[in-house]
Amino acid sequence: LDLKKEDLNKLADLGQGNGGSVEKVEHTPTGTIMAKKIVLIDAKSSVRKQILRELQIMHECQSEYIISCYGSFLAEPNICICMEYMNKGSFDSICRKIGAIDIQVACLVAHAVLEGLCYLYDAHRIIHRDIKPSNILLNSDGQIKLCDFGVSGELINSIANTFVGTSIYMSPERIQGAEYSVKSDIWSLGITLIEIATGRFPFCDDLSDDEDNLSDLDEEYAQALAEANKTPTHRDSFALSAKKKKDKRQSRRKSKGGLEQYMQKTTQQGMSGADQLNSMSIIELMHQIVREPAPRLEGDKYDEEAQEFVDACLAKNPDERHGPKTLLEYRWMDDARDSTFDLQAWTQTF
Ligand code: ATP
Ligand code: MG
Repeated sequence: LDLKKEDLNKLADLGQGNGGSVEKVEHTPTGTIMAKKIVLIDAKSSVRKQILRELQIMHECQSEYIISCYGSFLAEPNICICMEYMNKGSFDSICRKIGAIDIQVACLVAHAVLEGLCYLYDAHRIIHRDIKPSNILLNSDGQIKLCDFGVSGELINSIANTFVGTSIYMSPERIQGAEYSVKSDIWSLGITLIEIATGRFPFCDDLSDDEDNLSDLDEEYAQALAEANKTPTHRDSFALSAKKKKDKRQSRRKSKGGLEQYMQKTTQQGMSGADQLNSMSIIELMHQIVREPAPRLEGDKYDEEAQEFVDACLAKNPDERHGPKTLLEYRWMDDARDSTFDLQAWTQTF
């Protein structure tokens, strides 16, 4: 399909992220409905061409668990990527709409993500790098697919935003500067599953009143992180959040009432991870991810198979964390394969 800017008619805004925005468009010559992702990039023209070449891999991705791609083109200063439109949106927006989702649906999500990760790795040697509810999409046929995977190293480097690549779903080893591996995606899957099954992002509820425990370590920690991550943009943003946190801490100290309100806000039901992050600094969260025991899928309503699976995803040591192939052999994934849950009917309920 030869995509031209002028053949695409915008129908609606679908959302905005750190790296760009997404629109629902119609390709008028064929009547095809697509999702057009617009990414503002900061790169020389040789690099832009390289990015387009790298994006070609997306066309070659053929899996029922991966969003298909119609094509991409330059529309200075942006790159536009036209992909399959998923009419039920992403799991973060679904959770915002209906709150916690049925554990049987979460089970199917886990299965689709693992199959998608195996496909990307086996067929194309690609690591996703950005597993989170907003990158897992659903359509009214009951299909679950992954989008926004790291096909283009150059694109990742060129996105004109300092916070790209800094995600609250990041694994402890990534925070500490280790290279990406498929195991990091598995950690992100574990956090994603807790978030969608409980309707809230883990980690935010045990912020203590005893602020001095964290105090002076902040700037020091920001520095260490920046060193580990090397990129100057990261260094700036981490240093900035350390400062912001200090300011916040001082203002929070002033009023106990204020702190209680803050706690209430961060533990509120139905808030997405991203929303909650607004009331908590990145640095504070990074501390928790690295130092605290991993979160768990707690509660009687979750069966043992589900808890066992999530625990395995959230092994803090990547050497003890399984890859997608092994996780597909877990009991909970047998439940997914044997599932009689009618996902298509479920999509009609919201
Ligand atoms: P980030 O930029 O941090 O990755 P994000 O994933 O929320 O965050 P985008 O990738 O720009 O940001 O996507 C914005 C929103 O657009 C998503 O939350 C999703 O709801 C919607 N969206 C993205 N791709 C599609 C698609 N193919 N079909 C339907 N909706 C989509
Ligand atoms: Mg996305």
